[in-house]
Amino acid sequence: MSRGDVLVVGGGLAGLASAWALHEAGYTVRLLERREDVALETSFANGGILTPSMPDPWNAPGVHWQLLRWLGREDAPMLLRPRAIPGYVGWGLRFLAASTSQSYHSSMQANYRLCAYSLERLRAWRTALKLEYAVGTRGTLEVYRNPQSFEQAVAEVRSLSSLGLVGEPLDPAATARLEPLLDEIRGDMVGAIHFPADESGDALLFCRALRERLEARGVRVLVNTAVRTVRVTAGTAVGVETAGGFLPGSHVVMAGGPWSTALLAACGVHVDVRPVKGYSLSIPIDPGAGPRHALSDDSLHAVMTPLGATLRLAGTAEFSGWDMTLRPGRVQALWRLLAALSPTLARTVDRPGARPWCGLRPMSADGRPYIGATPVAGLYVNTGHGHLGWTQAAGSASLLAQLISGAATAIDPRPFALSRTERRAWRGAARTAEQHS
Ligand SMILES: Cc1cc2nc3c(=O)[nH]c(=O)nc-3n(C[C@H](O)[C@H](O)[C@H](O)COP(=O)(O)OP(=O)(O)OC[C@H]3O[C@@H](n4cnc5c(N)ncnc54)[C@H](O)[C@@H]3O)c2cc1C
Repeated sequence: MSRGDVLVVGGGLAGLASAWALHEAGYTVRLLERREDVALETSFANGGILTPSMPDPWNAPGVHWQLLRWLGREDAPMLLRPRAIPGYVGWGLRFLAASTSQSYHSSMQANYRLCAYSLERLRAWRTALKLEYAVGTRGTLEVYRNPQSFEQAVAEVRSLSSLGLVGEPLDPAATARLEPLLDEIRGDMVGAIHFPADESGDALLFCRALRERLEARGVRVLVNTAVRTVRVTAGTAVGVETAGGFLPGSHVVMAGGPWSTALLAACGVHVDVRPVKGYSLSIPIDPGAGPRHALSDDSLHAVMTPLGATLRLAGTAEFSGWDMTLRPGRVQALWRLLAALSPTLARTVDRPGARPWCGLRPMSADGRPYIGATPVAGLYVNTGHGHLGWTQAAGSASLLAQLISGAATAIDPRPFALSRTERRAWRGAARTAEQHS
């Protein structure tokens, strides 16, 4: 017997994974996606790495100096576009306020636990559902060119080793033995860290495969279905309004990426999530011609991931609001990454065949996602994963299903609770919900 009717809003990684976890937990689930297919927004062509090794939020202590230094530099890893500043004012202040050492470290630890749990869940789903999505299990190699950054990274790995993170520092020769592609740039590296438990995979293929498994089990995936508002009656979510009419549900899960913020605000629920643009480049490649591992380059803040017959380069963060312009300068930065990691590949790959893309990460101000209940009864949230949405998808969805069903949670949910950022919102939302009733 069904435990209730759940409407999941959003057909990206967060929504599809939520739908699966809730279906597994015994709920009758319908997933609502406004686009013509699933995973056409931020989950379409991301970096493809699943990295408990990178749980750190982007607002590390000192981030404001970095942002100032990079202001207006088209090739900067993190770029604030002055015209977009008004859209980030409150969020931006909270983003900077969360860059204290204490906040940064507690977010990093909470994220690590969620990432590690998420990979456990993903492996279980992969096996049980026979999911194929160009999986890579050799781990990531983080390349360092600056001795100070390398030292700092090794210290950070040590600080997380008590939580279970395994990272092996390598000198340039050992790095090149493990990843022959890097032999060419051996002289430029000071070292690398190998994270054997990280994985890689194509998020779009994963989403499509999961949609197929969901539908095969009777879960309805309604595309071309934009949710206009969540209907709240007497402080309780009772369904959603769409262009096609009202859809009732005993639970509504908001997993609409950065678009969640406005939909939630309309019922008085505040999440500190804004869009942060990133770019990727998908280059056709003979499987086996690229690197054996997913590679990240610390100095360029970008990754290069083999995904079957595609080599994916991804990175850069641009605070430019909802603007989806593909700026040539940002795409060039990804070509430079390729040249910096493998001059030979940069010369020989099929440049005209490469597909540039950009997407909007749903970024929370404190670097942790929002997972769980909202002040409106029956309304739940699963968003704000920023640069870790692929890594944390299966774990966040599983945690959400545990919270909704009242089961014991596998990890501590408190760091991801809505109430952490805005206690006043619980009172405000109760009032707004009353007004809607
Ligand atoms: C360049 C780049 C590289 C990245 N690399 C990595 C990586 O290597 N590893 C990693 O872990 N993460 C990575 N990420 C982050 C990750 O891709 C995102 O966190 C993740 O895709 C977010 O998924 P989502 O489901 O929350 O959002 P989305 O994928 O955007 O899904 C939200 C969905 O909600 C739908 N929607 C919105 N409003 C409505 C509405 N009103 N009604 C119905 N549907 C609605 C949208 O159409 C969309 O399909 C990267 C991101 C970028 C941009």
